[in-house]
Amino acid sequence: MAQDNYSFACDTAAKFLGKMEGKIALSKAEFELLSTPQRVLAVSLPVKMDDGTVRIFLGYRVQANDARGPFKGGIRYHQSVNLEEVKTLAFLMGFKCAVLDLPLGGGKGGIIVDPKALSKAELERLSRAYFRSIAPVVGERIDIPAPDVNTNGEVMSWMRDEYEKWLGKPAPGVITGKPVSNGGSLGREYSTSMGGAFVLREALKTADMKLEGASVAIQGFGNAGMHAARILHSWGAKVVAVSNSQGGLYDENGLDIPGIIAQYEQKRLDGIEGKRVSNEELLELPVDILVPAALENQITAGNASRVKAKIVLELANGPVDAEGDDILHAKGVFVIPDILANSGGVCVSYFEWLQNLDGEYWTEAEVNKRLEETIVKAYTGVLDATNGRKHSMRQGAYILSIKRILEAERRRGRL
Ligand code: NAD
Repeated sequence: MAQDNYSFACDTAAKFLGKMEGKIALSKAEFELLSTPQRVLAVSLPVKMDDGTVRIFLGYRVQANDARGPFKGGIRYHQSVNLEEVKTLAFLMGFKCAVLDLPLGGGKGGIIVDPKALSKAELERLSRAYFRSIAPVVGERIDIPAPDVNTNGEVMSWMRDEYEKWLGKPAPGVITGKPVSNGGSLGREYSTSMGGAFVLREALKTADMKLEGASVAIQGFGNAGMHAARILHSWGAKVVAVSNSQGGLYDENGLDIPGIIAQYEQKRLDGIEGKRVSNEELLELPVDILVPAALENQITAGNASRVKAKIVLELANGPVDAEGDDILHAKGVFVIPDILANSGGVCVSYFEWLQNLDGEYWTEAEVNKRLEETIVKAYTGVLDATNGRKHSMRQGAYILSIKRILEAERRRGRL
């Protein structure tokens, strides 16, 4: 649907909603409301560098939609950050929160910077400058940022501190992903993988398969991939391959995951003994379950037809591109889409926020129990929305979230 010239809609969201035509009927107003962020803030950030010079950085905060609750979404530091990307990620966050039925909307932020080129003191000054600049539009009940690519608990702690100085009183719930010693939640570190594991367990029931002994290949051995390997191994799955940017390890009889993790703390994955597999080969191994947990666009028209897994669990964001997705769907591969598969992270971020607002902190077991309840319910909702698997799980997830957001908009009288 064409956008008016004066629109500052997100092109990617508009294209995406266009693709959903035929699956869900949207009026012009609904389409424009869903694809146009409520607020876009661009800020210039003068930062004093260690050598005494001043550099001006550029940052963004995009607030996509808060019909269901305060905006929620991470802050990314990367040299390739751009406004269209931040808008797209903000929309995806809104859909992800709606799939989980969390009372939150979508937001995202970013700074154009290569953080590796900055000293720690420069990074702290930049982070504080950014949060001071966006302080008027964020808040515990307004917009709650979190970490994303190249930001972590330490950065979140600086930002919380800067915000509280600006506000003049404590506000621990203004940001999530904080270290446990600074108001963070237990279980947050591995929550994405834990949520993915719960969803996978449900998907296996749908596909009439068992986790015990099922073979798994995992691409990416960072936060998402390593914890997924650890959890699935401990639940009895046979993790046969893991990889990172240096390549991978493969054993068709199952890898010793605890042994690999212990060694990985001291050395690189390519320094650990074992049979090698490349990242390309890993995606095409004869396994039951494939877990892309590294980068976007890994399964495309170029290799999708050679994927042999019966289930693909998208722990990474966007690891299967649109053409790859069509091929997998046509082959009958059961793809668990990113907005459901990796939503455990935002789910426990929400729990962190609740704990901050209440001032009462939960045990790790309580966090995981609530995560399981929330994500299993979301899985069932998505499966129902596929209308007896007529639609893919990805389409089901979007149908469910779009309906929920529009329902909230109607209740508010904005539609
Ligand atoms: P990370 O930086 O901790 O790990 C990334 C891993 O991918 C590393 O092991 C890296 O070596 C590997 N990698 C890089 N290039 C590769 C290549 N060409 N082939 C194979 N492996 C390669 O990042 P992460 O937090 O684990 O995030 C991974 C993905 O999961 C991203 O798409 C991210 O957006 C998504 N995700 C993560 C979380 C989270 O809580 N960590 C939440 C939601 C989504």
